Amino acid sequence: MGRLIVVSNRVGPLKDTGRAGGLAVALVDALSQTGGIWFGWSGDVSDEGTFSTLKKTRARSVQMVQLDMTREDYDGFYAGYANRTLWPVLHYRLDLADFNRKFERTYRYVNERFAARLGPLIEPEDVIWVHDYHFLTFAADLRGMNVQNPMAFFLHIPFPAPEILAALPNAKSICRAMLAYDLLGFQTHRDAHNFKRFAVEEAGATDIGDNQLRIGGRVVTARAYPIGIDADAFSKLAMSPDARRHIARLEKLMGGRQQIIGVDRIDYSKGLPERFRAYERLLEDYPENRGRLSLMQIAPPSRSELDAYIDIRRELELLAGHVNGRFADLDWTPVRFLTKSFPRRALAGIYRASRVGLVTPLRDGMNLVAKEYIAAQRAEDPGVLVLSRFAGAAEQMPEAVIVNPHSAEEVAAGIQTAITMPMEERRDRWQAMFNRLCEHDAIAWSRSIMEDVKAISR
Ligand code: UDP
Repeated sequence: MGRLIVVSNRVGPLKDTGRAGGLAVALVDALSQTGGIWFGWSGDVSDEGTFSTLKKTRARSVQMVQLDMTREDYDGFYAGYANRTLWPVLHYRLDLADFNRKFERTYRYVNERFAARLGPLIEPEDVIWVHDYHFLTFAADLRGMNVQNPMAFFLHIPFPAPEILAALPNAKSICRAMLAYDLLGFQTHRDAHNFKRFAVEEAGATDIGDNQLRIGGRVVTARAYPIGIDADAFSKLAMSPDARRHIARLEKLMGGRQQIIGVDRIDYSKGLPERFRAYERLLEDYPENRGRLSLMQIAPPSRSELDAYIDIRRELELLAGHVNGRFADLDWTPVRFLTKSFPRRALAGIYRASRVGLVTPLRDGMNLVAKEYIAAQRAEDPGVLVLSRFAGAAEQMPEAVIVNPHSAEEVAAGIQTAITMPMEERRDRWQAMFNRLCEHDAIAWSRSIMEDVKAISR
């Protein structure tokens, strides 16, 4: 086979700088198998936009190729359609979705422009692998330019039930454009099932079984490929000197008390206000935890130019203040709310020092924090993961304490189960999850998608 071309909104890093998560590691692995190009937005806004000179850098057999956007492109494509329309709809939040014809037009235009700039770089034997909700219509644009190469797509976020997606103006036409890919990968069986239902019920495809759809004389594969993490490397990171320093600092601070850890970008999909209320409920329903168990919530701000994100941050600040005002004591702070980000190296230590990992999104494509929390635990004395049934990770981690994040009562009871769980049960549950994480890691994930798309092209 020829080279691989990866397309994603942001590109890199190509080298393991410690910043690279499992995804970057897996993509660099896939790219270095055959050599290739990683193509996407430069992160810069300029007057020339997508007509700017391509920015190229190379590390061994992999070339990064990036282009700018204009301010108008950024506003309509990225801040507009991607983050104000698709993100809420795909996370089941029609109440927060902004439907604006101009956003959609700019989204389609930027997809076309990116396709037009990539086109001349494509060689006949190349395989193209496109990532995420920024580029749903990209393959259709390339097909319009008569590009016949095999094309795979992976959606990192959820694909909602057809009843939800139907509310998106032009959903049918977006779905038809997605069917221009040869292979569509989703995080969970539910997401893949939702897509197939929409394609059949609304977009004229026929389900021919075996994860395949027929549309206009072509066959398209749509199935789940749950993304993994670099489990082995992350587990080693949790034992690194840097992680140990963080563990020591935390243990000093905790003075024998236990800690629940939450790590999430500030985003309405993460269920953070519900989580704070559930923790308050825990202190009400199980008062023996007062003075003994704190919640540390690490919450780096994201997309701070959007109102919905400003609102949720303010709500969280109020809630954290409320719970602390109500329950704090001279020597105990119930909630520590840190609105900054930590390097993965530090996080690994923080996870390891925490007795409970609390991951309660209302919707999440996968949720890598859940997997990292498990990878970071001590085999001899592992902590317990409390996990929302609405995180993609729940399909693969049934040994976690699975909860409904909408119910404060249920989450509080789940945390109580976690902190009172006998050692042997903790070890059994952890071992089952850790083994699975090592077997289905990030590299296995990208290799299985690559094998399937190559099989199609043969
Ligand atoms: N992360 C990080 N520093 C932080 C918070 C998060 O490096 O301060 C990383 C975290 O380790 C994980 C990723 O960001 O790899 C978050 O992925 P996840 O799937 O949980 O959520 P997303 O932000 O992609 O919705």
